[in-house]
Amino acid sequence: MERHLTHHDIGRGDYVLYWMQASQRAERNAALDAAIREANQLHKPVLVCFCLDPRGEGRQIRHLRFMLEGLTETQHLLEEQGITFMLRSGPPHEVVPVLAEDACLVVTDRGYLRGQREDRSRLAERLDIPFIEVEGDVIVPVEVASHKEEWSAATFRRRITPHLDHFPMQSPTPAVTVRGAPTEYETLPLDRPEDLIRSLNPLEDAGPAAFAGGLSEARRLLEWFMTGKLSRYATGRNDPNADVLSCMSPYLHFGQISPLEVALRVRGHRGNGENAAAYLEELIVRRELSMNFVHYDPDYATPACLPDWAKKTLAEHARDPREYVYTLRELEEALTHDPYWNAAQTEMRMTGKMHGYMRMYWGKKVIEWSQTPEEAYNTLLTLNNRYELDGRDPNSYAGIAWCFGKHDRAWKERPVFGKVRYMNAKGLRRKFDAGRYAARFGDTYKKG
Ligand SMILES: Cc1cc2nc3c(=O)[nH]c(=O)nc-3n(C[C@H](O)[C@H](O)[C@H](O)COP(=O)(O)OP(=O)(O)OC[C@H]3O[C@@H](n4cnc5c(N)ncnc54)[C@H](O)[C@@H]3O)c2cc1C
Repeated sequence: MERHLTHHDIGRGDYVLYWMQASQRAERNAALDAAIREANQLHKPVLVCFCLDPRGEGRQIRHLRFMLEGLTETQHLLEEQGITFMLRSGPPHEVVPVLAEDACLVVTDRGYLRGQREDRSRLAERLDIPFIEVEGDVIVPVEVASHKEEWSAATFRRRITPHLDHFPMQSPTPAVTVRGAPTEYETLPLDRPEDLIRSLNPLEDAGPAAFAGGLSEARRLLEWFMTGKLSRYATGRNDPNADVLSCMSPYLHFGQISPLEVALRVRGHRGNGENAAAYLEELIVRRELSMNFVHYDPDYATPACLPDWAKKTLAEHARDPREYVYTLRELEEALTHDPYWNAAQTEMRMTGKMHGYMRMYWGKKVIEWSQTPEEAYNTLLTLNNRYELDGRDPNSYAGIAWCFGKHDRAWKERPVFGKVRYMNAKGLRRKFDAGRYAARFGDTYKKG
């Protein structure tokens, strides 16, 4: 879906500028396709610009490295198509207007988080040529799926499902008619990523993650999922020992792979009915519910986003005695009494990706072990966004809010949690061999 963010006449520039931010890929990218179509019509080349933004709150070296690996591949793929890729240092509102002086129009992709929306509105105020936003990282555009914030996955599913009857097709990327660099241009060197990382002053290194960035790596993992894992997804996805997840979340977060490409690949695979349905429920309903949440709820990053029943019950139990209370540092270092929780925290720190089922347990326990729900909220956002490669995503905010009752219903009342859903170690052991998981990620585990 396209939206005009300004209403000016086409400029008399030398190129069509695509300011790339959310969809960091050269294939199956609706914003790129739109830029190519516009450029072909105007008989101009396309220039793609990506801003290495020094602001990046909470960003760690592992995130930057993963992102730069993806951008290196994107640059090669764009060049093969005859499109110039330019990497510039600085926030978009400083970099893009300068490049736009020589452009006919500017195209961008769509981001749902506050900072991304602010970047677009600041730019819209400064540009005096058309500025077009193209939504390409969801299956159903956010306002088409629903015109308001949805209460739960059930209400959202009812709204989005009719749109999935006409599943969007993937049109091939149009060929570029005017190839090559439009003018003299300067770009930062992607062949020296460590220098680029140093120049951005990230926080201390969380250690290398277990995933390499880029479209081809995303596709390799997707094929592995299709051939070795999808057939066990419905029954195995809640067992961290089963290793049946797709690991698409870091790639989706950086826009290195299109969710439509993933969805079509899974949907088109014969003989996986129940498993494909379970996967598409996560990829489409759950993921796009997160976009609905951050788009319509301005309080998405704080407990103010919680439903009234959850706020009330958490407040009523805010002074309940806690059996264990841990500091941020103790949690960060996985120093709790709970071997399963420590293993989950260690998995996230070591690999950059905690198993999806353990994320729920991990979040619930931090509520139980913090002085107040507000402190727990901050701790979870800090740790999630510092260590998860897919952190700082709409899913991060929705996942953490879910632990506090968002998109959920009231359950039986109990200490600390009130009516918010509770999880315990016994429940984990009932579902899977939790001891085996703990042994994989922690030598502190003692059977018992
Ligand atoms: C406390 C908490 C924090 C979370 N933090 C994040 C985060 O920072 N970033 C992130 O992307 N996801 C987050 N999630 C959601 C979910 O756990 C991950 O998306 C999933 O584990 C990613 O692994 P995968 O790609 O291998 O998943 P798969 O099971 O293979 O699923 C495929 C895709 O479906 C989507 N998906 C799967 N489960 C969910 C879900 N519960 N909600 C929304 N979308 C889902 C994701 O895009 C995922 O990549 C969080 C959940 C919780 C409870």
